[in-house]
Order: sequence, then C-alpha cells, then structure tokens
Amino acid sequence: MDTILVVNAGSSSLKFELFAVGTALTRLVKGQLESIGTTPHFAAKNAKGEQVVNRSYSSAGVPDLASAMHHVGAWLRDQHEGQLVAIGHRVVHGGPDYARPVRVDQHVLEELERYVPLAPLHQLNNLAPIRMLLERQPGIPQIACFDTAFHRVHDPLTDHYAIPARYFAEGVRRYGFHGLSYEYVAGRLREVAPDIARGPVIVAHLGNGASMCALRDGQSLECTFGFTALDGLPMGTRCGQIDPGVLLYLIEQGGMTPSELQDMLYNESGLKGLSGISNDVRDLLASDDVRAALALDHLVHRISLNAGALAAALGGLEAFVFTAGIGENSPIMRERIAKKLKWLGTQLDPARNESGEMLISTADSQVALYVIPTDEELMIAQHTLGVIT
Ligand code: ADP
Repeated sequence: MDTILVVNAGSSSLKFELFAVGTALTRLVKGQLESIGTTPHFAAKNAKGEQVVNRSYSSAGVPDLASAMHHVGAWLRDQHEGQLVAIGHRVVHGGPDYARPVRVDQHVLEELERYVPLAPLHQLNNLAPIRMLLERQPGIPQIACFDTAFHRVHDPLTDHYAIPARYFAEGVRRYGFHGLSYEYVAGRLREVAPDIARGPVIVAHLGNGASMCALRDGQSLECTFGFTALDGLPMGTRCGQIDPGVLLYLIEQGGMTPSELQDMLYNESGLKGLSGISNDVRDLLASDDVRAALALDHLVHRISLNAGALAAALGGLEAFVFTAGIGENSPIMRERIAKKLKWLGTQLDPARNESGEMLISTADSQVALYVIPTDEELMIAQHTLGVIT
C-alpha cells in the first residue's frame, strides 16, 4: 500500500495525517505532538476515531520540532506498513510567485526562506521539517502546499495597498490566506451544486482563525486576509481589521515595542481581548457576561460588513457558505449571521440549520446558504499526489 503523509508544523506543535493512496485517498491516522519543549503530548486517532497513541514526555524528551519529527516518524514506521511515496507540507507563504504546490529541492527551499520575514511566526516552522527530511530522506518527495497560492489569481488591483508603489514590488501586498480551505470548499460546492459554484459565492471560514473569500467559478477574487493573517475579521485572539493609526498611537504614546505589539495583536485581541473571558465561541455563548455578548455581536457585525464588501466585489451573490469550527458546528451563530445577511436575499430554514444538512436555506431563498465542512489536510494530500504523478 502506498501512503502520503501530511505535515503541519507550528512553533509548538506538529500535526500530521496519513493517507492511503488508492482509487481515492483514505485517511488512516490523524494526530499531533503538542506543547513541544514544555509539556509534550503525543496523541493520534485512527480512521474510526479510536485513540491509538496517548503519550506524555518530559520537556527534555521532546525539546524541539526536530525531535518531534523523530518521535512521530518512528511511531508511524512502527505502526503503519506500506510505502511512503511523498510528504505534503502546509506552508503558509508562497510569496508573490508560487501559485500552486511545488516539489521542494534546495533551490526552492532557499526561495521559500526568503518569505520568512512575511510570516515570521509560521514560515520557519513550516520549512524546518522539509529541510530536515530533504537531508535525511532525499528519496521521498517533499511537496509544499501554500495557504496563499489559491489567491494568486487576483487582479493586481485587489492586492495593492495605497502606499507608495515601490512597497508592492518589495512584497508588501495583500496575499490572502486559508487558500487550501477555500480550494477544498470550492471543489465540494462544485460537486454538490455545480450551477451555483459557477456564480458569485462567499465562503466564510470561521474557526479560531477566521476569514472570508469571494469566489466566482471556484476562483478567488478577494479575501479578507491581507499582507498577514491579522487582517479582516476579528478572530479568536487576533484583532482583524484595524486602523493603522491605532498601531502608531500604541507605539508612540503607549511605548509598545514591535514584539509587544505583535503579541497583543496575535494573542490577546479578537474575541479573547474584547470579552476578557475566552477566545472560544462556545464559552462566550454559554456566558451571561455582557462582555461575552459584545464580543459575539462584534464578530457577527464584522462578518456582515465584510459580506457586503465581498458581495460588492462580486457584483451580486448566489450562495454563502459556512465552514470551519464555528461555521460547521454552531447553528446559533449561523442563524445570527444569516439574519444580518437578509438584505442580500438570504432566507435561513431553521429546521435545516439545526439538522446538520448541507443546504440550510429555504427553497425560495434568493441566496443559497450552505454548510460545507472543510478538509485542508485532504486538499494537501490531493495536491501532493497530483505533483508526484
Ligand atoms: P482552527 O482555526 O484552530 O483550525 P477550528 O476551525 O477548529 O479552528 O475552530 C475552532 C473554533 O471553533 C473554537 O475556538 C470555537 O470557537 C469554535 N467552535 C467549535 N465547535 C463549536 C460549537 N459547537 N459551537 C460554537 N463554536 C464552536
């Protein structure tokens, strides 16, 4: 049996999924080694959802990403027979040039390292396992799949900031992220509703990270994320769109350093910052604190404002699709958002919304409402297979 491994490496966690290659790709195992260097914990589940590993280590037992790769690799070799034919990596940034997945060699790796300053929190960690595996297992193709690639078809008009033009050439432009998720959802929509998928569609990826994408014929026209994954919607702990004047104020008057500002914007803002309670929508829905209500109202408000902007970019709207943690699992949040979008012609069917169906609008809704679960890892596995065959 041939297999493909999908790797998503972060600063303190290594997530992985193993797929069997057959007539379709079949998920064999999904797991992660988390809290690397602090309280490392390795857990994985098989295709039936049964726990197949659940181990803790001392901090010195798994001090870094390289060590995590070693543990996960040894466990996979021990547990799974078969021929590993390629490894697909989630890489946040493909810069202005990479519009599709690519097999990584030394030259490509050096090019991708040039984008580290564009995504300092993610890019180095995404690339570290690739570098390691190129050295240790040169025979196995390493495929990089980018969060930005799906948006590279944008009209340049879309990707400019109105600052001196030389910065665009330097790489200061709107890239957009969550591209693997949007690509997967667009593909699913094409399967379920091909006519609608050809038209103007908004997909709302509402998870801990959140963004929205305007699509026509399955291609990205606009994304609420910009130069970084801070822009657009307020998120679990990230601020979303903010007047740059606020940042100048915090630096000049508040004396904040770049790293303090970065920490606040990425980790202390969004729902967590607004509510002072939690970044998790479930906690906020369960709370009767007015700050929790404010945070959720703000999120719904910003989603509706952005939906208006994206509908304007599309010149109309035929479908609005919910995906990711909040979008897939929270009927109440979907209801609240759909209510705000009524002016666009959405008519939610409350029973369908509760029942877990894919189409959740009424038969006479002008704009169809869908819930389509995303699967970024499967998208990476599909791309990886596509590059090697
Ligand atoms: P990530 O961006 O980390 O991949 P997910 O797409 O897994 O995030 O979404 C995680 C978020 O989804 C949680 O923080 C929580 O706010 C939200 N969520 C998950 N399940 C529910 C639920 N049943 N009701 C409301 N929100 C939920």
